[in-house]
Amino acid sequence: MTARRVGIVGCGQLAQMMAQEARPLGIEFSFLAEGGENTTCVEGLGTIVNPGAVNAENSADIEVLYKAMGSPEVITAEREGVDAGLLRALEKFCPVYPRPDAFEKTQHRVREKTAITDAGLPVAPFRPANNYDDICAAVKELGYPSFIKSCENGYDGKNQWRVNSDEDLAAIADQVPEQEYVVEKGINFSREVSLIGARTADGKVVTYPLAENDHYNGTLLVSTAPAPHVDEKLQTTAEEYLSTLMNAWDYVGVLAMECFVTDDGLLINELAPRVHNSGHWTLAGAKTSQFANHVRAILGMELGDTTAERPAVMINMLGVDKKPALQNEGVWSYGKELRPGRKMGHVILLDESQDALATRIDSMLEELYGPSKRPA
Ligand code: ADP
Ligand code: MG
Repeated sequence: MTARRVGIVGCGQLAQMMAQEARPLGIEFSFLAEGGENTTCVEGLGTIVNPGAVNAENSADIEVLYKAMGSPEVITAEREGVDAGLLRALEKFCPVYPRPDAFEKTQHRVREKTAITDAGLPVAPFRPANNYDDICAAVKELGYPSFIKSCENGYDGKNQWRVNSDEDLAAIADQVPEQEYVVEKGINFSREVSLIGARTADGKVVTYPLAENDHYNGTLLVSTAPAPHVDEKLQTTAEEYLSTLMNAWDYVGVLAMECFVTDDGLLINELAPRVHNSGHWTLAGAKTSQFANHVRAILGMELGDTTAERPAVMINMLGVDKKPALQNEGVWSYGKELRPGRKMGHVILLDESQDALATRIDSMLEELYGPSKRPA
């Protein structure tokens, strides 16, 4: 019997970990480099196809590409910003999961929020805007603080501004060229959590325990899972939200949902149609990792157990690449070239209790980043 083959659009660390986690299941991988991206992360893990520029309009080209990938049984992507036109063109040859329209929705913040509210779920009050005047009108309606985010190409806090006052608003006037934005009311949250779930084409859903996320300068630094002191109701509500979305979109694969916890309940901040940094803890902390479950879901295999065996913490290595000594846990180094602020790898700590973990987080941050305990 020939091995089952999965094609992944993208060659970064998320593709790397999907392959590392699913190759032991006997699954083979091909990776498609989009636009000449660096392929170091996936070297040695499967076939790498690096065609340079791809014309998604030319079906002969796409067929050549699909065959060069070894005619995979299913194609997925490791990145949210992938060209949806390319995914649609590849869909003529095999299923593409998550479906291209899931990428189209989540690539654009207003479309994403509209899709969430269409499913009857709550988000922060928002207004679309196309220029500075629109932004000012929206901020006037929503009040301070407000967040202004470009609809496309925003991640890790990039292309977004928080304005707390008229002065802040005036200060961004020449930083916001005409393009699509969303203006959001600033939410007074007690913490940020995320839920990761996987769904198969025949509608089976599994979810992981909520993770609590701490960001530094807009980038995730620490995820703790299960999120400490989560009552059952919060977990259940989050699961209901995620299942509602996945069912409404007939979603296949892993979907990540970032939320704000407020006094008035849970609000959805954003979605990622892929494995997510706040789910890396599952590599050591859950019986089945998010990466293995993503591959299982898109191949229609039985989904694995998502139970967290012990409390876990994931700490990102941002702009540092170190090998702290750990007992029975792990250090993942993605093998990328070191650059300031770049996600170079992560550390996972496991312990018997959240309290035991709390003290260890601090010393690990110090070991990675020095006395400031924060990335440079
Ligand atoms: P990105 O795609 O860059 O992750 P997010 O929309 O998740 O963008 O915003 C990054 C961070 O900014 C969030 O994790 C949160 O801490 C803060 N933030 C974003 N929107 C709001 C909001 N409406 N109210 C309060 N904080 C916000
Ligand atoms: Mg985010």
